[in-house]
Amino acid sequence: MLGRDHALSGGLAFTAVAPLLHVTGVHLAAEIALTAGAGVLPDLDEPGSTIARTFGFLTGAFAWIVHKISGGHRKGTHSLAGVAVMTVASLAAGSWQAGARATGGRPELWWHLVPAGLILALLFSAGFRALHIGGHHGDAAGIALAALVIWKGWDVVLVTPRNVPVLAVCVALGMLAHIAGDMCTHDGCPLLYPLSRHEFGLLPEPIRITTNKLAEHWVVSPLLLAGLAYFLWRDAGFSLTAPDHLAGRLSRRHHHVPHAEVACRASSTG
Ligand SMILES: [Zn+2]
Repeated sequence: MLGRDHALSGGLAFTAVAPLLHVTGVHLAAEIALTAGAGVLPDLDEPGSTIARTFGFLTGAFAWIVHKISGGHRKGTHSLAGVAVMTVASLAAGSWQAGARATGGRPELWWHLVPAGLILALLFSAGFRALHIGGHHGDAAGIALAALVIWKGWDVVLVTPRNVPVLAVCVALGMLAHIAGDMCTHDGCPLLYPLSRHEFGLLPEPIRITTNKLAEHWVVSPLLLAGLAYFLWRDAGFSLTAPDHLAGRLSRRHHHVPHAEVACRASSTG
């Protein structure tokens, strides 16, 4: 599958689950872009891939290391174990960043923002690159967006009852969408790698997709775009009818607004 379609499938995956996470508005936009970038993350095991070329020599060398560690292209990073490793890494980076933010106004903790910042810069820039957004300026836009999101803390908004930073959810969703996409191609994915090298597929062999052929351009891409448009429309409608779940929960957490007042505010705006 092309990087473009992997990125689209990542964005689609986030829009599909956004209502469950109560993510709306500007958070929704940032998280869709983040998950689109995570949609090309598994191909970091291939030094020639879109994401590996994001920051030239730096990401190229990193991809070469990932290629060696993960056992080659479409091995470790295309398995459930690979998703778990990357998700835990982003969870750790997000939690570390959130910890520094919580202490507030302590500039000596700036380096707590570095791991999450690097992940965000990579994912945003790779996503833009895969979607051909911004051309040569796409990488600069990705870095700028990463800085903005880190500064605002949009990547460490807690979205589940278990208080997981949304960054980790984006990484897991994007990678799973990528793997599902590759499972629709002829090769399949070794989900249980390194325990087993068996390659799992999602579609019967005759209708599997060949990368960069007519079916991908005229069936897969339009379907992904249509799905993305539908879920965006649904999510936007959702945010109009049930405003500010996230803001309500955050203000409750930080300012201890009584439940009754929040409910009252929500009903008055709805
Ligand atoms: Zn792949």
